[in-house]
Amino acid sequence: MNKCSFTSEYDIVVCGGGIAGISAAVTVARAGRRVAMIEKSILPGGLAVSGLVNIFLPLCDGCGNQIIFGIAEELLNLSVKYGPGSIPPGWNGDGRNKISRYMVKFSSAAFALALDELLEKSGVDVWYDTVVTGVEMDKTRITGIDVFNKSGHGIINAGEFIDATGDADIAKFAGCEVIEGESKMTIWAQQASLQQSESAVKFNDPELLNNMVKLGAKESGEGHPTGEKIQQGIDGKTVSEYSIASRRHLLDYFKHQISEKGENASAFPLGLPSMVQLRRTRRIVGKETITANFANKKIENYIGAVPSWKDNGVVWQIPEGALIPEGCKNLAVAGRIISAEEGPAWEAVRSIPAVAHTGELAGKLCVGRC
Ligand SMILES: Cc1cc2nc3c(=O)[nH]c(=O)nc-3n(C[C@H](O)[C@H](O)[C@H](O)COP(=O)(O)OP(=O)(O)OC[C@H]3O[C@@H](n4cnc5c(N)ncnc54)[C@H](O)[C@@H]3O)c2cc1C
Repeated sequence: MNKCSFTSEYDIVVCGGGIAGISAAVTVARAGRRVAMIEKSILPGGLAVSGLVNIFLPLCDGCGNQIIFGIAEELLNLSVKYGPGSIPPGWNGDGRNKISRYMVKFSSAAFALALDELLEKSGVDVWYDTVVTGVEMDKTRITGIDVFNKSGHGIINAGEFIDATGDADIAKFAGCEVIEGESKMTIWAQQASLQQSESAVKFNDPELLNNMVKLGAKESGEGHPTGEKIQQGIDGKTVSEYSIASRRHLLDYFKHQISEKGENASAFPLGLPSMVQLRRTRRIVGKETITANFANKKIENYIGAVPSWKDNGVVWQIPEGALIPEGCKNLAVAGRIISAEEGPAWEAVRSIPAVAHTGELAGKLCVGRC
């Protein structure tokens, strides 16, 4: 039995400080509620920062119409505020542009600094280096979350909780049904090369310094390295095995660069992901599930909408029930774990703009409930 070293109390607790968690926490703080955001790493942004996923997919539908506004748009702007990257011309606030999609490539480090600033300005109480290890329940309500950090084991109590862990950890701890997804192996890292740096200077384009190496499976699954396991869901051992194997592929790539050209190697490793790059781990079974039939369908009780980043003109409406797991009265979920069917529906809702949007929706939902 672990001794409880500390307790704390808030109106709403957001578990996970990825893009969904930040959007939820900022929404709650702006509504004047006392909010804590619990994050196991020491960085904000989750996969967008620690996972080096540095493409903010579009806020628009590919036919010139902006679909997502609010915090997602604020975050897109922040992602390029202190680093290279720029808003495509034409997206000047009128919400319509026929030429380019409203998306950006950003520097993960610059985005992290802007996110810290946003959290501080909004008044979110951030607990970094703190992992949620379980929940305290009273029948179908969570009364507190069990956490562990350098002070030891503690309990953080609140009236409402938001699971933005990207893996549905809190829903699982609370006994709610979750479904596992499949991830083929993708390896993204930062690299530097003299050639790329020369081009950046020659074309006066700092974006060229934001140079990534991308190995393994594309989003379609094509390119999964031969002989590597296809990951199901997530568990402690998966994370270790996947991380070790993906870095082995990176090492082979850079060894090849060096053996070909020696000291004039065309690229060197510069930054490695510090979060496992699994696309689909777990999602909840919600009161409602977004299925393939939801594409371009008007539903009665929708609270938000996200565009497909693959197919122009396709929009997915989000019902409130997709954020509410069955079996727990004071838990909402946000981000890539909301209730969406495997296939195009889940693909649409797990993009960075979509997770920001559902974070904001979950924040509003919990503010309304407490
Ligand atoms: C390889 C790859 C490529 C991708 N490419 C793109 C792309 O180009 N563009 C795009 O828009 N999207 C892309 N995506 C999808 C997108 O990056 C993610 O779906 C999205 O960032 C998920 O955000 P989230 O906030 O829901 O979860 P996460 O980013 O997973 O954040 C969850 C946070 O919770 C924390 N956490 C987890 N468990 C606990 C716990 N028990 N206690 C405390 N903290 C915890 C984690 O440390 C993390 O910070 C890609 C994903 C992958 C893996």
